[in-house]
Amino acid sequence: MSTAETELRYAQVIVDLPGSPAFDYSFDTTLAARVQIGVRCVVPFGRASRVGIVVALEDEPSIDRHKIKPITRALDEVAPLSDHWLQLTRFTAEYYQHAWGEVALPALPRAMRSVPGARYAQSISRLRERAPPRWVESEVPHVQPTVPQLSAINALVTASGFAPHLLFGVTGSGKTEVYLRAIARTLEANAAAQALLLVPEINLTPQLESLLRARFPGDHVVALHSNLADAERAAAWLAAHEGRARIVVGTRLAVFCSLPRLSIIVVDEEHDPPYKAGEGVRYSARDLAVKRAQLLEVPIVLGSATPSLESWAQARAGRYRLLQLTERVGLGSGPQQRPALELIDARIHPPQNGLSAPIAQALADTFDRGEQSLVFLNRRGFAPVVTCEACGWLSNCPHCSTFAVFHKPDRTLRCHHCGYTAPVPRACPTCGNQQLKGVGQGTQRIEETLRALLPLAKVARIDRDSTRQRHAASKALDAVHAGEVDVLVGTQMIAKGHDFQRVSLVVVLNPDGQLASHDFRAPERLFATLMQVSGRAGRAGLPSRVLVQTRFASHPLFAALARHDYAQFAQAQLAEREAARMPPITYQALLTAEARTMDAALQFLRNARDRALADFAEAASHIRLFDPVPMSLQRLAGVSRAQLLIEADQRAQLHALLGIWLAALREKRASLRWNIEVDPLEL
Ligand code: ADP
Ligand code: ZN
Ligand code: ZN
Repeated sequence: MSTAETELRYAQVIVDLPGSPAFDYSFDTTLAARVQIGVRCVVPFGRASRVGIVVALEDEPSIDRHKIKPITRALDEVAPLSDHWLQLTRFTAEYYQHAWGEVALPALPRAMRSVPGARYAQSISRLRERAPPRWVESEVPHVQPTVPQLSAINALVTASGFAPHLLFGVTGSGKTEVYLRAIARTLEANAAAQALLLVPEINLTPQLESLLRARFPGDHVVALHSNLADAERAAAWLAAHEGRARIVVGTRLAVFCSLPRLSIIVVDEEHDPPYKAGEGVRYSARDLAVKRAQLLEVPIVLGSATPSLESWAQARAGRYRLLQLTERVGLGSGPQQRPALELIDARIHPPQNGLSAPIAQALADTFDRGEQSLVFLNRRGFAPVVTCEACGWLSNCPHCSTFAVFHKPDRTLRCHHCGYTAPVPRACPTCGNQQLKGVGQGTQRIEETLRALLPLAKVARIDRDSTRQRHAASKALDAVHAGEVDVLVGTQMIAKGHDFQRVSLVVVLNPDGQLASHDFRAPERLFATLMQVSGRAGRAGLPSRVLVQTRFASHPLFAALARHDYAQFAQAQLAEREAARMPPITYQALLTAEARTMDAALQFLRNARDRALADFAEAASHIRLFDPVPMSLQRLAGVSRAQLLIEADQRAQLHALLGIWLAALREKRASLRWNIEVDPLEL
């Protein structure tokens, strides 16, 4: 044995690959000072090089030392990732059943996880020197916190250790002010402290970012979301990692931002579905934020007007401290406090081109008074399907088990799931009939109806189609703020966070699809959306109305909504979940398979289930493994999809089975793609 060899040491390194948690590499004395836990490094892998992260150091390797290759380079131009960060990503990997590296590497900005070139040190310095993005100087309204706001702020800043809070406050009750003051006091108390503020969507960040920059002029505020250019994101991440940024505001991916002095976490609109990742490792940023606060022993506040039933149940059980803001600020306690909700029964008032008579009247009256209206319809396009009345032909997507939607501006049929686009046929492809008909309502058709109804009004539409161009959404929203728009029609995108001053009428069209959904979370989501949309009315104290056009006017959900009684609604929902043994009372995971045929997908899941019952009978005995079934969207982009629901009364039981069972499934090379989702939100 040569002397050089005896001086070798070993490191465990994680890389972005499924399967093995960590790989062994060696390094010699020349690298010894630079290879530390948390340091990123370049390692040979197969024939290529990869960036990995050192997670352990050892004197003896765990495998045959002759098979071990040396670390190529330690990337210590940037300080190592902290133990806390490694713990957080490791927890995430274990909880969501993926390899550590599959969580940790993708959590870094591209510049920190790609193999660097020769001028790496320069590029890092350039990132450090990048000027923070400019922002429009905005006026900072100086407000005096109300008594309920003050007590919420106090609760947060005096909390010590891990202290989860649920801030339950109606829309317009001033939750943002609570967040900002709690952050301000935390940063004042400790000159190095950092704060993390999570928001569900990017289109909320510019507003909030400039508010934060205005409120914290001396502190470095950075935004992190997936719409940033690579260099911008890397610069923001580095500023946070090096403690120069004191406040990070970002979407779900920001939950993994390296923040060595993180001292308070805020999750705004904590109930919002975008906190759950839709691909790759399906983590919940809300849940991980709570875990992160627990690991760090710092306070966290989850805020919402309609908390998720998960968080509500935690508060009811006393595990989260409940803070309440029951009144809208600045509106006194008069009738303007709450817009009146009226149900328009579509069976009694049949809609004409999508709008029933009472709604048309209300829109006309509002326009006559010089006030603004919002019309909310959760369906983009002109008509959800085109049909031939002669033979019954329907505009199916050729690749998915769904309809292609009619888009009028360019006369196309488009699948909203796979992106398939084709011109609308001139005649029925089956029988040649030339009278094809668009059935049902989308935002484009309602826009057309509104223009015909109110020819003098300025009508604008906001949905994913109208906002494809960069900044289109914020321009349109600015026009509404400036009072240049009389009627705004749109999807979900208009429901959120925008503080329109002159809106006195909110119209909700056709929420019926969600009421009839088989997903047990549909009512919870609908209630949240409707509360949020109706919260857009009467912000400035104008007497306001919310009109809901539905065929199910007697549904109990509407009664609770009319009373603005989330607590009662949540209680009733929780009782139902309890009776039916569903989350958050029980714990679920979803095994999904994608194959060329439905049979193959189902067969894979059946085999997987049999395997659990046969090989892991003891662990599986605590678990309910349901029959594999086709997913609700059975075919997507030419692929058949099936799912197997797994449920347990205790989380630990669920994870005990998942750990051993999925490891066994991974060992056998499957001929199809499968995935596991822990705590699925959609079934
Ligand atoms: P929420 O996030 O709960 O929906 P916001 O934080 O957006 O509510 O507050 C609604 C409006 O009330 C904002 O325009 C905000 O500037 C204003 N506001 C908040 N707190 C106060 C206060 N204490 N005094 C006066 N205005 C306030
Ligand atoms: Zn036909
Ligand atoms: Zn499709």
